[in-house]
Amino acid sequence: MEKWPLRWFELLLPRHLEIILEIDRRLREELLARWPDDNDRAERASIVERGGARLVRMAHLAIAGSHSVNGVAEIHSRLLRDVTVRDLAELYPDRFNNKTNGVTPRRWLLLSNPDLAGCINEAIGDRWVTDMERLETLRPLAEDGGFVSSVRQAKRAAKLRFADWLKSQAGISVDPDTIFDSQVKRIHEYKRQLLNGLRIVALYRRLRENPHLDIAPRTFFFAGKAAPAYHVAKVIIKFLNNLGDTINGDPATRDRLRLVFLPDYCVSVAERLIPASDVSNQISTAGYEASGTSNMKFMMNGALTIGTRDGATIEMAAAAGEENFFLFGLTAEQVATSRGWYSPWWHYENEPETRAVLDLIMSGHFCRHEPMIGETLRNILLAGGDPYMHLADLASYMEADMRLQSLYSEPDAWTRRAILNIAGSGKFSSDRTIAEYANDIWNVEPCPVR
Ligand SMILES: *Cc1c(COP(=O)(O)O)cnc(C)c1O
Repeated sequence: MEKWPLRWFELLLPRHLEIILEIDRRLREELLARWPDDNDRAERASIVERGGARLVRMAHLAIAGSHSVNGVAEIHSRLLRDVTVRDLAELYPDRFNNKTNGVTPRRWLLLSNPDLAGCINEAIGDRWVTDMERLETLRPLAEDGGFVSSVRQAKRAAKLRFADWLKSQAGISVDPDTIFDSQVKRIHEYKRQLLNGLRIVALYRRLRENPHLDIAPRTFFFAGKAAPAYHVAKVIIKFLNNLGDTINGDPATRDRLRLVFLPDYCVSVAERLIPASDVSNQISTAGYEASGTSNMKFMMNGALTIGTRDGATIEMAAAAGEENFFLFGLTAEQVATSRGWYSPWWHYENEPETRAVLDLIMSGHFCRHEPMIGETLRNILLAGGDPYMHLADLASYMEADMRLQSLYSEPDAWTRRAILNIAGSGKFSSDRTIAEYANDIWNVEPCPVR
């Protein structure tokens, strides 16, 4: 969480600083009144961090000044209370609550996916557009052959439309008969685009070792921007582009694996790609993704999620039924308790595929003219201790990926699960989220629209 040097306030915002110091003084007074003699707690919970150069803890300042504080998914609200700002949650227990994020079904389904929206309307009418919980009534239709087939056709239509758009915009051809497997979000180490890259290298290696391997042809899509000064994130973008150039150009694999990195990711790109996706990758290190919202956009568009138990993905899996998700990897509790002794080297030394994947990357196979990229990845994944624990989750990601591939080979079973996901996505409408803010925090009534 952000801590700003107090010195900056002295130079730039001296009046703000006076006020912040007064808020800090009163907060410390309140803490010591409640827990006399507990100076450690007052120190931990206060706004100005002392000892060395003084820092202003921005989150503590925000909490001191708010009447209501929430995380944006159940796990995030719980971590705030129990770990991140525990002392303040104990001081102000009534302020803390949860508001799980949502996305608008008008933009993310009705407008962006006319094929699927039409097919839902035909089955249950269009009242879901302003009352998303109505999608529950699709659940029994997962057993209806006619509906299953129309949902499958809607997905195919969305894939064709996206493929045409991609061809006309970027001159890139993709095959709608392959699995469209997407990870689109800001580039960040905790979101683990690199873990997805490791999976793709592992599949590439398996195919090169065994050209007759029976694996479903797949197109991997990445999109996302890096923050301007986040050097490592830019190296990850370059690595994924190089990985794409190699596998798309390799005669041994190019008919079955393709990787497309879409430039300039934005909402308009998301509105086109998400309806066309079969698979949604939500693979953050558990405990790091506050909520996520692209996970919800994919779910209401009938993609199946392969992901970790993090953010709102946990609640999505509960709503759809965990058997309709491909969950894998360490839980947030396991991440927290094992990070002290975790070593990526154990996985490198004891898992032959993990080792082979890393050796291939570090050999420069994908970045022949850019040795700095292999060096940076080696630092992130091995020498630097792998703080986001990519290697801890790679084997279980591969195992979940095998389950995914085997389900895809049964189109009806796949589409049934997609329907159960759509049916369970009602909770993730921002209409629900906003109604909760209005009722529990803002105390405002809805304004009737005539
Ligand atoms: C939804 C959305 C996001 C958020 O994606 P996450 O996977 O939840 O991080 C980011 N950028 C764009 C353009 C989006 O549409």
